[in-house]
Amino acid sequence: MSSSVVEDGTEKPRILVIDDEPRIREACQMVLEEMGFVVALALGGEQGLAMIKERHFDIILVDLMMPILSGFDVLSQVRENHPDTVVIVITGYATVEHSIEAMRKGAFDFIPKPFTPDQLRAVVSKSIKYTRALQDITDTKSRLRVMVNRLMDGVMTTDSEKRIVLTNPAFLHMLGYHGENVVGRLVDEVLPNETLVRMIDAALLMPRDTFTEIVQELCFEARDGQSERILSARCAPFRGRTGVNLGAITVLHDITAIKKIERMKSDFVSMVSHEIRSPMNSLLMQMKVILDGLAGEVTDKQREILERASGKIQSLTAMVSELLDLARIEAGLITDEKETIDMQALLVDQVAFHLAAAQAKNISLQLEQLPNLPTIQASRQGMEEVFTNLITNAIKYSPRDGRITLSATKDNEYLTVTVQDTGFGIPEEDMEEIFARFFRVKDSNTRTIHGTGLGLAIVKSIVNAHHGSIKVESKLGQGAAFSVLLPISGE
Ligand code: ADP
Repeated sequence: MSSSVVEDGTEKPRILVIDDEPRIREACQMVLEEMGFVVALALGGEQGLAMIKERHFDIILVDLMMPILSGFDVLSQVRENHPDTVVIVITGYATVEHSIEAMRKGAFDFIPKPFTPDQLRAVVSKSIKYTRALQDITDTKSRLRVMVNRLMDGVMTTDSEKRIVLTNPAFLHMLGYHGENVVGRLVDEVLPNETLVRMIDAALLMPRDTFTEIVQELCFEARDGQSERILSARCAPFRGRTGVNLGAITVLHDITAIKKIERMKSDFVSMVSHEIRSPMNSLLMQMKVILDGLAGEVTDKQREILERASGKIQSLTAMVSELLDLARIEAGLITDEKETIDMQALLVDQVAFHLAAAQAKNISLQLEQLPNLPTIQASRQGMEEVFTNLITNAIKYSPRDGRITLSATKDNEYLTVTVQDTGFGIPEEDMEEIFARFFRVKDSNTRTIHGTGLGLAIVKSIVNAHHGSIKVESKLGQGAAFSVLLPISGE
């Protein structure tokens, strides 16, 4: 019933027998070679240790009772210097205490003298299975280690106390950590990033039957020659057999480049739309000059063609404006340079700019007598967009023959500009929603009026970016008044 330990083409396992009794050595050699081992023999402890130093053995069979260097000495040296080697001790008659002591000192098993070939085979087979399992675990671990280390994404494992168990170089690099070994240290000590720590806390508290992951963006400002970094962090708990959270795994993915491209894309769209909008407006104006007969008489046929062309340009302009608005929202809005703005002059310009559109509906558009207004620090383009949106809305959401009034007041802190109309007004229940993106009032008055629902959202973002605020007062059927408050110190 001899069983071979080498069933496949793998290298033969090596075994060393250390015993001062030639009879035992020879018997072991015979049995073990038959099992498929490469067997080496040593006459005593010293010789054995010398051989172990020379090369690796998978298993060492050592007699405990030998003159000069005992089996215990061999055992302790092997344990210390060759942790991958399994030691089986051969014990003399009825020395149970010795066997127990040897096991305590790290022997894998023992075999009492005298033993039969079957007993030897059984003990050795058991230990070779153990070494193979151990080898498998070591191999898997090292494979995983290489894989994790080579990942472009950052990976960190932490235990239930938030101590770092494993990190890969990408993780530490992404967080800009270049210190000493981090394993065994607390996350908040080594990587003091509040969001990261909070994510791990939340993962550890996740109930056992929940399998969601926590996803957050981490933003690191530019410093020490490093540019700004945006990381997408995902964190999930890992669990033991009983379902208890043993720790958390955090994976970081660098999305700085994607974010940059997104920003460039919206910058590009807004640049293009802006460049298109201005020439189209001037095209419209020039056509209007012709249509108004200021460039000579226009025949009916010419008028018809020009009006159709104007209509097309108008809808193109509207589309481009929407595109521009969206791009600006995506870009996070208003990062333009602020400048000193004379609000009075800006409002005069705005009235002049929208007068034609108001007059087309026989709506009067007036600027009330203003007090002496202080200048403010603001983005000119932003301010123009705010009042263009408010005045356009006032015209759009007013029936014919209405009245729009622009007024301004100041106190110590704020300059307040109000655009008031005598239009349809806003239903009470929609007043809160009015500044939300894409929100539009849907009633019989507004149904036929085109729009995107983005205008007021943009107005509010611009005002907020200037540390100001906006409020609205309205009663259905009695018009609306939008007031923009802008800080005078103008930071
Ligand atoms: P849009 O005009 O493109 O629909 P806005 O964000 O500018 O988008 O406005 C959102 C909604 O608020 C409009 O659809 C309209 O119903 C309402 N609204 C805005 N301004 C006025 C106003 N001056 N009078 C009445 N309703 C208004």
